[in-house]
Amino acid sequence: MSNKKSIKSSSSAERGSLPSFLVSELRSRLLNWYAKSGRTLPWRKTRDPYAIWVSEIMLQQTQVKTVIPYFERWMQQFPTIKALAKADLQSVLKAWEGLGYYARARNLHRAAQQIEGDFPTDLEGVLKLPGIGRTTAGGILSAAFNQPISILDGNVKRVLARLIALETCPSKALKQLWAISDHLIDPNAGRDFNQALMDLGATVCTLKNPACLVCPWRSHCKAYNLGVQSELPMSETRAAIPHKVIGVAVIWQDQRILIDRRKPEGLLGGLWEFPGGKLEPGETIEDCIKREIREELAIDIEVGERLIVVDHTYTHFRVTLNVHHCQYRSGEPQAIACDEIRWVTVDELSDYPFPKANIKIIEALRQ
Ligand code: SF4
Repeated sequence: MSNKKSIKSSSSAERGSLPSFLVSELRSRLLNWYAKSGRTLPWRKTRDPYAIWVSEIMLQQTQVKTVIPYFERWMQQFPTIKALAKADLQSVLKAWEGLGYYARARNLHRAAQQIEGDFPTDLEGVLKLPGIGRTTAGGILSAAFNQPISILDGNVKRVLARLIALETCPSKALKQLWAISDHLIDPNAGRDFNQALMDLGATVCTLKNPACLVCPWRSHCKAYNLGVQSELPMSETRAAIPHKVIGVAVIWQDQRILIDRRKPEGLLGGLWEFPGGKLEPGETIEDCIKREIREELAIDIEVGERLIVVDHTYTHFRVTLNVHHCQYRSGEPQAIACDEIRWVTVDELSDYPFPKANIKIIEALRQ
């Protein structure tokens, strides 16, 4: 017989708050589990706040297995805050190439230039740095200095929402979830507690099929006891994201291709790309490419055959890039809607940082 009960059948008091007497039990169970089952990760071998900060930023929106090689290369290339502060933005973006959400790299660079001396050790000082919110600050200060400062990333929200069988979606209960995270953190073991909570969310209390049978919190978990762990947390209602169709030009002249650098701020700021723009209603891709290139670079081109179609999804929209080979015809290229333009060979493309969708274009060119 199923042990599944309706969430509504337990009282709000039972589900909405965490009784104090449970807190030390939950702490010790989690820390014991972590001592046996915690992951070995490169940034856990160090107490250097800079290295931990880099890892925390890379781990935002990105999986651990993707981050590890980037983190290791980054620490070789920019081993200290000073080294990062002195580097030029282009080499910073190149080191980040493929990780996405490039504002993270720009903010790291800017923050490194802002830090005078050592990395700050107080919450207020850390929160002043660009790109660092409350969870990231807690992650850094706990991991580097063992400070009992709580975190609430996506994984932690899910674990805590299940622990108390939260009746609403986590974004509507942030105050409550922060209060629980604050209440739970071990004042003497901030580092291990936060790391353990992250590991629990990443390896046991996963989005799909949580492994409750091996979970150290199982006996106190409301969602498990109600049999609703797979139905929680309640999902956020999301509007459908818009779709943009883009015409993109690979403009050739004498074995060279024209690329442009995006303006420094905004989405993909400072990265290089193949020029192009959004399809207008009633326009063909060929007409769109010709128009965009005239408007953005003040040159005329002939649009040739299609090279590749690339679909890519960003957080708030998705794009379809229709990429065509084009031949330069006339005019002096001008950087009207970008920061800089260059003619480069296919081999030279690897010297420049490009967003992921453009890397697929480069791969197609190499074939
Ligand atoms: S018992 Fe299951 S649902 Fe509850 S915290 Fe553990 S893994 Fe998550």
